[in-house]
Amino acid sequence: MKSIAPFIRDINDFPKPGIVFKDLTPLLNNHEATNLCLQELLKLVGNQSIDKVVGMEARGFFFGTLIAQSLKAGFVPVRKPGKLPYNTLSETYALEYGSDVLEIHEDAIKPGDRVLIHDDVLATGGTAAAVCKLVERLGGEIVQCNFIMELEFLNGRERLKSNTVTSILKY
Ligand code: AMP
Repeated sequence: MKSIAPFIRDINDFPKPGIVFKDLTPLLNNHEATNLCLQELLKLVGNQSIDKVVGMEARGFFFGTLIAQSLKAGFVPVRKPGKLPYNTLSETYALEYGSDVLEIHEDAIKPGDRVLIHDDVLATGGTAAAVCKLVERLGGEIVQCNFIMELEFLNGRERLKSNTVTSILKY
């Protein structure tokens, strides 16, 4: 197996007309493809030391925890409002229509922690930019924003330009 690309399935018009949804469930369904994806994500990190991996709800959890284990780092979930049980910090970010909120536990990252931010897809970058703000508010040092896929035509990198952005597959 040389590439994870054949394991990403395009679903047209999901969740709404005009969107091509990048479905990674065929990849998760195959242990070799899952392992190859993890190895490729680890290659993007290289030998940089990481204290915490932050993964976004929900598809950032799959590989976020695997990366954290491999790097001997802690895993930190960022979730939609009302899901995290302890004290949280929240960040509101703009969507195409309206806005959304993401939350993190206030004790999940210590000042000076070296942080890797991970999600499955970088689209407009709004979600990742909000997560960067949460990490920075807790005093974390963002080492890299790391994605399986990047939709280059949406220019998500522009929103994250003060950070290092990496991805395996570019569309
Ligand atoms: P954005 O904030 O626009 O960068 O959107 C990123 C978030 O939306 C990520 O958590 C992705 O999982 C999800 N997302 C956006 N566009 C797609 C897409 N075409 N296929 C799958 N997930 C997507």
